Amino acid sequence: MSAHEVIEVDIKRVACDGGGGALGHPKIYLEMGAASEVVCPYCSRRFVFKESTAVIAGDLSSRSASAK
Ligand SMILES: [Zn+2]
Repeated sequence: MSAHEVIEVDIKRVACDGGGGALGHPKIYLEMGAASEVVCPYCSRRFVFKESTAVIAGDLSSRSASAK
């Protein structure tokens, strides 16, 4: 089984419940804040904020410089 699923989202607040069923967990909300991704502490799913291509193309250099 893949333990580290990556999910692309276009908002910085996501809800995760592990997918429900036996593999699920209580539903929680994850706030990315200034970061561009967040990992769910329950199921280790990684939510990556996917910006529009227009924004990335115009702001790539400054984004890279401020990462981490
Ligand atoms: Zn989760």
